[in-house]
Amino acid sequence: MSAPPFQWSKIFDWFTEIRDRRALLRRVGVLTLLAVLAADVTDATINLLTQPARLWPSMVQTSFTAGVISLIFITAICRANFRLYKLKSEMERLSRTDLQTGILNRRGFFETAQARRGEAESSVLLLIDIDHFKRINDRYGHLAGDDVIGAVARHLGLFMDQRDVYGRVGGEEFAALLVGCNLAEARARADAIRIDVARAMELRLADGSQVTISVGIAAWAPDVPLLSGFAAADRALYAAKRAGRNRVAIQPRAAA
Ligand code: GH3
Ligand code: MG
Ligand code: MG
Repeated sequence: MSAPPFQWSKIFDWFTEIRDRRALLRRVGVLTLLAVLAADVTDATINLLTQPARLWPSMVQTSFTAGVISLIFITAICRANFRLYKLKSEMERLSRTDLQTGILNRRGFFETAQARRGEAESSVLLLIDIDHFKRINDRYGHLAGDDVIGAVARHLGLFMDQRDVYGRVGGEEFAALLVGCNLAEARARADAIRIDVARAMELRLADGSQVTISVGIAAWAPDVPLLSGFAAADRALYAAKRAGRNRVAIQPRAAA
């Protein structure tokens, strides 16, 4: 078996992916030393061939000059790379975050869920939709509707474990991946979320009625495409809607 080919781009990654101040200092130190070494080797070679008597005085002079100049320029470049890296990380975080609720957006949910696929032999997908949300908007205005979306996102978060992934995948729709969970446990969790939302004081509307959610559940095995699992949870969600809303419905097996 042959060794994998060396990836030259890794050298550039080391130089450009400066994650914190300690890494910044390390890069500046190593690169300045390398620059001084390269200048000294060149200087010593030329002096040995042309004027050997000047070898040591010239080395001291070259080390000092190369050291000061390299330190200034390398620090400037590394600091710029550090800032760009922070900016890039922040942009990536924002591109995966739903600004209204602060949880993952559709892209963030799908990417993170996909990345967790190998962590358990089977997991469960929940698709959660607020019932009659259009009526809430129509009666109380879009701002009130936005508040309801934020509150449901917060309540959903209360029921998530560290390994789970959840996000807002549409206007008033949320999805959750319960990693390593079975259908019976997922059903119990989904019911607990549903009951919590239906009782939460902050989700009581001005006319005294309560916001409710419907939940579709489907198992998701790692060898099944995520979109198939998602479609199965969506079918279950529509079954819950058809059966009268404010309930949980299960699609036992995701189609391959
Ligand atoms: P169902 O019980 O069948 O789910 O009915 P619904 O009224 O909840 O569903 P429908 O798809 O008819 O309406 C969803 C509404 O959600 C339509 C859209 O205007 C509204 N909506 C989508 N995103 C937002 C948002 O960010 N804020 C607010 N206030 N409304 C939103
Ligand atoms: Mg709805
Ligand atoms: Mg909807």
